Amino acid sequence: MALRTILNKSDEALSKVCRPVEKFDQKLWTLLDDMAETLKKANGAGLAASQVGILRRAVVIDVGEGLYELINPEILDSSGTQYGVEGCLSCPGEWGYVTRAQKVKFKAQDRNGNWYEKVVEDLFARCVQHECDHLDGKIFTRLIEEYVDVEEENQ
Ligand SMILES: [Zn+2]
Repeated sequence: MALRTILNKSDEALSKVCRPVEKFDQKLWTLLDDMAETLKKANGAGLAASQVGILRRAVVIDVGEGLYELINPEILDSSGTQYGVEGCLSCPGEWGYVTRAQKVKFKAQDRNGNWYEKVVEDLFARCVQHECDHLDGKIFTRLIEEYVDVEEENQ
């Protein structure tokens, strides 16, 4: 495993619509392993492949419930609203209140290409929505309703 460089939101890769993952091979597994390591090192909740310069629909999420790999994820259903502070590893120092669905049901493939479905709430749901936006080239800052100042050590 190796750390990958997390791109800043100003990098054009972050505004591109990512293509589906089609090959579930060693190259993908290495990418996913590297993304997991990079996410952990950065102390983040989620990371999309485009954030490390790979324009494919792959995401890793860890909100304290273990590591989840979402390949070609699709949100099937969402309900409720949550209003909370959100940040992004590609936007260091930028934090703001964003309204998201409280609960989402999504489907995704695992690293072997098997589809699964999962219903998640709260932070996990926020993270799924944030990362799926990345796959469509959308950055969360466009949704910020109110910016907040957060000290570096609290990120
Ligand atoms: Zn992000």
